[in-house]
Amino acid sequence: MEEKAYKIALSDPIFEVVTQAADELGVDCYAIGGYVRDFFLHRGSAKDIDIVVVGSGIELAKQVAQRLPEKPKVAVFKNFGTAMIRTAAIELEFVGARKESYQRNSRKPVVENGTLSDDQKRRDFTINTLALSLNKKNFGQLLNPFNGLEDLQKKIIRTPLNPEITYSDDPLRMMRAIRFAAQLSFTIHAKSLNAISQHNERIKIISNERIVDELHKILASKKPSIGLALLHKTKLLSHILPELMALQGIEEIEGQRHKDNFWHTLEVVDNIAKTTDNLWLRWAALLHDIGKAPTKRFDKKIGWTFHAHEFIGAKMVYQIFRRLNMPLNDKMKFVQKMVLMSSRPIVLSEDHVTDSAVRRLIFDAGVYVEDLMTLCEADITTKNPRKQQKYKANFKIVRKKIIEVEEKDHIRNFQPPVSGEEIMKTFSLKPSKEIGILKDAIKEAILDGEIPNEYQAAFDFMLKKGLKMGLTAAH
Ligand code: ATP
Repeated sequence: MEEKAYKIALSDPIFEVVTQAADELGVDCYAIGGYVRDFFLHRGSAKDIDIVVVGSGIELAKQVAQRLPEKPKVAVFKNFGTAMIRTAAIELEFVGARKESYQRNSRKPVVENGTLSDDQKRRDFTINTLALSLNKKNFGQLLNPFNGLEDLQKKIIRTPLNPEITYSDDPLRMMRAIRFAAQLSFTIHAKSLNAISQHNERIKIISNERIVDELHKILASKKPSIGLALLHKTKLLSHILPELMALQGIEEIEGQRHKDNFWHTLEVVDNIAKTTDNLWLRWAALLHDIGKAPTKRFDKKIGWTFHAHEFIGAKMVYQIFRRLNMPLNDKMKFVQKMVLMSSRPIVLSEDHVTDSAVRRLIFDAGVYVEDLMTLCEADITTKNPRKQQKYKANFKIVRKKIIEVEEKDHIRNFQPPVSGEEIMKTFSLKPSKEIGILKDAIKEAILDGEIPNEYQAAFDFMLKKGLKMGLTAAH
């Protein structure tokens, strides 16, 4: 019964080709890792398949490629002893079974050829050691020496060997453990979690790119707080994002407390994960309060303040992205903009929502105004149901107003209705500061609702304003 089920995991016709090629070469080979794990998790069949070969992975890849009708290219990575074939539907990665030993200051192991069992031992987690035989003699047989299947059923992340060694050898595995826990809603085995906490500072030997890759995956998961809380618990976070760690804690002075902005942030990230898959918006949620630690003050009259935390926070976004070698491009600017504007809709919704305030919001947020609203809605974490309802209702009004005002005034992609050239021509001006003043006055008049965002109205306004400034209109 079970045997049959595992053959189902290998029903893709490509496996038949691998079987023939391997049997002809006389080598044993197995599907292993994520593909097998995800089959047992019913996560849908993955499109990249790792195949471990007791022998040359490169040779087998070449044999397989020859047998495929589309004759795909074989990408060979000689240094790693791996080869990859990509067809329209599937990606196959072949690797020779190997035995690894590590040196203290590098995550690059010394590699020797090994058996399947050696190869399974070098893998990070028991759930990733599951192997399905691909040779004809035992096609579909499961090789499960570390009880990975049981761990899958019990939803446990556990290392095949002593966790102290596994994590110390390759500290990236600490991030991977937490990422899998977040993605799969699994628990990290207590000994593993201990070892991660013990060795957290070893993360320093991992490149920022690898760390950020894992962070992205944690943020992209259904409930990112699972991973973020584990990063916090193991103190990995203090090496990766100390600014976030600094948000933790509640202070009390003269009976006044502020909220714990770390746990609040995690709630906001979970909230936003329910409404958007936009990774950068999730980053914005993660960093939206980052400026609160350096700006925290206690004022005897008004209590706790975080004056200009959005402005400081936006600057910190740049520093964080730079430190982590993340792209300093439009994505970073988007996150900065979201952080900088993160309090605007809340302030707006506390008052009567006026058209001109909404116009200014659309003007400043531009095409990202909906993203900003999504962030601000996620930011509502009050446990007081009355307040919760009130804020949500107010944001609904703001959203409705955004649509109404935008239909009328087209502020989102604001282009000055009267150009600088035209102003110069009208008043026979050379390039000068008056042009800037007039352009600005037109913009302000539109945002205030004094004039509509239309050419004729703007031109008339400009003429009047210019004359008032003492300029003379040319004829
Ligand atoms: P996903 O595709 O979701 O990232 P995956 O398990 O397929 O999951 P890969 O990074 O493609 O992840 O790795 C493939 C396999 O290689 C893993 O299942 C695991 O067995 C092994 N592996 C990957 N990285 C490591 C590592 N740092 N240490 C030990 N084994 C690893």
